[in-house]
Amino acid sequence: MVARCPFAEARFLPESSTQPRIKPTQIISHTMAGTLSGTDAWFRRGDVGVETHFGIGRGGRLYQWMDTTVRADGNYKANRRPDGTGAISIETEGYASEPWTQAQIDMLVRLHVWLMRTHTSIGRRICRTADDPGLGYHTMFGAPGPWTPVAKDCPGKKRIQQWREVVVPRVLAALKEEDMTADEIAAAVWNAEFGRGDRRVTAGRMLAETREDAHAVREALDALAARVAALEARMNQS
Ligand SMILES: [Zn+2]
Repeated sequence: MVARCPFAEARFLPESSTQPRIKPTQIISHTMAGTLSGTDAWFRRGDVGVETHFGIGRGGRLYQWMDTTVRADGNYKANRRPDGTGAISIETEGYASEPWTQAQIDMLVRLHVWLMRTHTSIGRRICRTADDPGLGYHTMFGAPGPWTPVAKDCPGKKRIQQWREVVVPRVLAALKEEDMTADEIAAAVWNAEFGRGDRRVTAGRMLAETREDAHAVREALDALAARVAALEARMNQS
């Protein structure tokens, strides 16, 4: 299986054709401490043996450097385990002291959702341990630790907070929405709220009120018909 992201710019490295295959079970986010173009040039150097699968620029530009089913060397022991599972890694432009831009957050969410639909072996939760299928960031289990052999700040405090509070919740909500059963969708539709006059009412309540309105109209029509019939009777008598 070859997995190429349809909305990424193809910037495949030679390693994408030579390194061993993985079964992706995790997604790990990073910060470049540099620019997208600088990182691209650095990964291409013959004497540089590290890389990640993807890179996201400040404006949301997305590069794919590695096939998602091939090992990328950016996460130490999570790159590829003895059982063949491994992490998909995403670099992001900028520095650990900076927050992600809105465009970076939006692309992180879009990419995570695409990856998790494409590779159902990726856990739909935050990793509980270093080997647990799921989502993580580089220093999540320590630096040095199982995902990095050295002390480092990656992706940085502000970005970790955005990852926890914005990126992960949005990704999991998007996946949950598409996994809803027909019953859950029906319940969501009936319970959706609409404005009616100055009130908020559910679709179900609106239908019930419409039926009550129709009933009232019918009673009024019946009363009117009775009066017309009475008038007709009087006219026929005269
Ligand atoms: Zn990193």
